[in-house]
Amino acid sequence: MPTKTVLSLTGIERHYGQGENLLSILKGADFSLTAGETVALVAPSGTGKSTLLHVAGLLEHPDKGEVIVGGVDCTGLSEDKRTSIRRGSIGFVYQFHHLLPEFTALENIMMPQLIAGLSKPEARERAGQLLDYMRIGHRGEHRPSELSGGEQQRVAIARAVANAPLVLLADEPTGNLDPETAAYVFAALQALVRQSGLAALIATHNHELARRMDRCVTIVDGKIVPFTA
Ligand code: ADP
Ligand code: MG
Repeated sequence: MPTKTVLSLTGIERHYGQGENLLSILKGADFSLTAGETVALVAPSGTGKSTLLHVAGLLEHPDKGEVIVGGVDCTGLSEDKRTSIRRGSIGFVYQFHHLLPEFTALENIMMPQLIAGLSKPEARERAGQLLDYMRIGHRGEHRPSELSGGEQQRVAIARAVANAPLVLLADEPTGNLDPETAAYVFAALQALVRQSGLAALIATHNHELARRMDRCVTIVDGKIVPFTA
């Protein structure tokens, strides 16, 4: 079966600060993700996992290197174009859910769909399906503050995939949960990714969860290398 590359990072460099205080985090990192593939990014704190995900998700510019999303080279694109590619092709899940506190779970999942131009009934229906899929259909009318940590993360995952992105990027999505809840949320995430044919790059400290992915990578000296969890 031919494999389609949905995300490709080439020669990514990212430095913070300058002069004597220059901190080189990514030093020529290469990575690619094919459709349907799930990859764990397992590396110690401070090695650049979030930096890599932000660069891949077009939330940050690399200092050098190429980011290609769905075949489109995003390197020299305007902010408007990058935003539109981000909205259409990338779903992002943060360690802390980043849900909008004044809106219900359902509304949080509807929001990106409304921005993408779907009607309210269409967005509501898909949001409801996603909540059902994540087994929290009965929590749709609740605000984030009324949900448990695991429920909040399941809503955040549903929101990230609401527009059927090509790539799901998740930054320690279960890092804030107790082990049992983490395993449950992780399984739900993986099932959703597999069922929808998405590709996912998931940063995690949890080796047991990482082993369930198709492959694992880590960051060594600013580069991405294979890893056995
Ligand atoms: P991880 O997610 O693996 O813990 P990060 O990508 O968040 O690592 O950070 C990698 C390193 O870069 C850390 O040492 C962090 O302090 C540093 N760093 C991250 N963002 C900035 C920034 N905006 N300015 C300066 N240093 C930063
Ligand atoms: Mg991080």
